[in-house]
Amino acid sequence: MGIIIKSEREIAIMRQAGKILAAVLEELKASVKPGMKTKELDEIAAREIARRGATPSFKGYRGFPASLCTSLNDQIVHGIPGETVMKEGDILSIDLGVIYEGFQADAAVTVGVGDVGQSAQGLMEATEGALRVGIVAAKAGGRLGDISAAIQKHAEAKGYSVVQEYTGHGIGRQMHEDPQIANFGKPGTGPRLKKGMTFALEPMLNKGDWHTRVGDDAWTVYTADGRLSAHFEHTIAITDDKAEVLTAISSSVDGKIGKEQREVYA
Ligand code: MG
Repeated sequence: MGIIIKSEREIAIMRQAGKILAAVLEELKASVKPGMKTKELDEIAAREIARRGATPSFKGYRGFPASLCTSLNDQIVHGIPGETVMKEGDILSIDLGVIYEGFQADAAVTVGVGDVGQSAQGLMEATEGALRVGIVAAKAGGRLGDISAAIQKHAEAKGYSVVQEYTGHGIGRQMHEDPQIANFGKPGTGPRLKKGMTFALEPMLNKGDWHTRVGDDAWTVYTADGRLSAHFEHTIAITDDKAEVLTAISSSVDGKIGKEQREVYA
């Protein structure tokens, strides 16, 4: 199929989808607290997406039963919201996709539930940092492998491993388009990056080993060793000389990403 180049008009629609998604993610982040069930977040997501005239991408995707993925602690991605009660010190990945006027946006954040320890905080910051360096590496004229390599280098420099079986992806009319974007790789390899390409970059970093396992629900992905994992994702568009973050949100774990992205990329 190849990498689909989007027109300015198509990217303008994706920008709107991204803004809606970012606003809903902000609401979800602000809602997370100890004692809450993950399904309550799903209810907020469904309501807030609908209120903004969009549709949740994940609901019904290959039978996925919810509007968002909630992945706690050693869950990496694809956790199903339900009766699980979040407790102080947990970390929660919230992954959300929306469709607006036929185009998709996809983003994820990991947040602490109440106060989290230094160790979990460090993992979250490194994962968000890995996303940030991946975005910086996404430049017209560069190669796809530049993004993968930047993410891997940052993660490993901070002492974490990158999940290998799950990747970022092209995005547009479909949630998953070509190419797959691994969170590890070599600079200067892979397809040439061009203006109009739109990607969802999504590093998943583990405190321990990179191996994963899928749970009994056939969706939830866990770290094989039971240690913590974090996940951050943005939808971006390659412009003439840089990446524009279409799902930019105003707050971050370490207070940097929203501000920097607005200043540098928005
Ligand atoms: Mg994604």
